[in-house]
Amino acid sequence: MNMNRKSERRGLIKKLKSEGYLSNERVIEAMLKVPREEFITEYQKSYAYADRPLPIGEGQTISAPHMVAIMTEHLDVEEDHKVLEIGAGSGYQAAILAEIANKGKIYTVERIPELAKKAEENLNRIGYKNIEIIISDGSKGYKKEAPYDRIIVTAGAPRIPESLLKQLKDPGKLLIPVGGKMFQELKLVEKKKGEFSTKNLGGCVFVPLIGDEGW
Ligand code: SAH
Repeated sequence: MNMNRKSERRGLIKKLKSEGYLSNERVIEAMLKVPREEFITEYQKSYAYADRPLPIGEGQTISAPHMVAIMTEHLDVEEDHKVLEIGAGSGYQAAILAEIANKGKIYTVERIPELAKKAEENLNRIGYKNIEIIISDGSKGYKKEAPYDRIIVTAGAPRIPESLLKQLKDPGKLLIPVGGKMFQELKLVEKKKGEFSTKNLGGCVFVPLIGDEGW
């Protein structure tokens, strides 16, 4: 069974590469390493390596692998980075980031305690030591450990939260889906020498970012 999952995982990564979603070696290696089946319910396990989002409970979803690939490639994480993720969900994206920033640290914020607990169980089962899960409203970021080299928001926001811009290092990068509740545009914000610049990376569909600086 393990062997099957492993070859399914290899197959998915090969497909994502051929479709042009994956090219960075560190991202490829991370996606080859992290067992996506460990982050979804028993009932969904046979779909672990289909390229689609899956329900994880509480009305939330784990993103489709191609979206994780796109976001992780653009986030451009380095080995020693301190990364903030908003929307821990299942913990899968945090695991991918932890593989890349293996000498740094990942802080991941989740507003739904039941999901945070499950994410923690998933990450502990696999054995990640450089990830901290925080139960809180991440639309305001996580001031305690700021500033961050990278910030990734995996829920859709009505606008870019001011707090996240403030908690970004200089230089630093922030990835965030911005738009309506049903459909957003993925934005990459770069901070350099005190200036911010924003690039649109295309359309995406995320569950809403709910909170003080969200919906
Ligand atoms: N990155 C996750 C998927 C995220 S789904 C994974 O790899 O599985 C989006 C998550 O954002 C949901 O779990 C939702 O509860 C959470 N969320 C929404 N608004 C939030 C907020 N203000 N602060 C923290 N988490 C939030």
